[in-house]
Amino acid sequence: MRPVLVKTISQMMQISTKLKGTIGFVPTMGYLHRGHLSLVETAKKNADIVIVSIFVNPTQFSPNEDLSQYPRDIDSDIKLLSELDVDYIFFPQESEMYPDGCKTWVNVDKITQVLCGKSRPTHFKGVTTIVAKLMNIVDPDLMYMGEKDFQQLVVLRQMAKDLNFKTEIIGCPIIREEDGLAMSSRNKYLSPAGRKNALCLHKALLLAKKRFRQNITNSSKIITEMADLIENMEGVIDYIEVVDPDTLEHITELKKGCRILLAVIIENTRLIDNMKME
Ligand code: AMP
Repeated sequence: MRPVLVKTISQMMQISTKLKGTIGFVPTMGYLHRGHLSLVETAKKNADIVIVSIFVNPTQFSPNEDLSQYPRDIDSDIKLLSELDVDYIFFPQESEMYPDGCKTWVNVDKITQVLCGKSRPTHFKGVTTIVAKLMNIVDPDLMYMGEKDFQQLVVLRQMAKDLNFKTEIIGCPIIREEDGLAMSSRNKYLSPAGRKNALCLHKALLLAKKRFRQNITNSSKIITEMADLIENMEGVIDYIEVVDPDTLEHITELKKGCRILLAVIIENTRLIDNMKME
């Protein structure tokens, strides 16, 4: 069935207050791919009503980033979500989400200034602000987020805990193309040659996992090997870090359950990926 397309905040709030049963919510910026759809499928399995939001959030882009060229295709998104029997699509206007005079930000300290936060210092402030707004409007019981954006997941869990949101946040596994590239709306920017080189992120993570399984645990040694592989495939490294999955603190010796996170620029596109060491 075609989902109900909800375009205003008041309408979305009216609907969500009246809904009976568990509400599962999947916030997205649209241009949906199988990564997004996997979150929707998990929500469909666990919640009575599924709401997906589509909103390209301007406050998480800095002025030199790709906001104006960020890919959009609402017709295809609606079609894909209809096929999955989503109940509601919340598709608000930017002017209503950020009216003139909007002065409040939600900001999580410290864990937003490391990893992606170093090169994108205002990014997470935009993410936490929009997700807090969306959570207030949709009032979900469950919210589904991809581990693809692992730092975002940790930051939003911290926000939900600190601000006493009652929503449970569920992390879902990374969905990859057949050759291993993590699905992302930004993969569209890559040329055929760039698309091949973009495999270096996944290859480097697999190399790290292999070394971990060979009992090599020194983070710097593994990071150096990963960096060599990436640079040989024309990737420009923003960061490669081994972190504790709960605190995002840097760790010097790999151990079971730790995560390696990385951001690499291929052509002009910044790609991220991560993997749990096990
Ligand atoms: P975005 O539209 O990029 O803001 O992503 C919306 C949600 O989809 C976020 O929770 C992302 O982590 C998740 N997501 C994006 N790509 C993937 C992927 N390849 N696998 C799993 N989840 C993903």
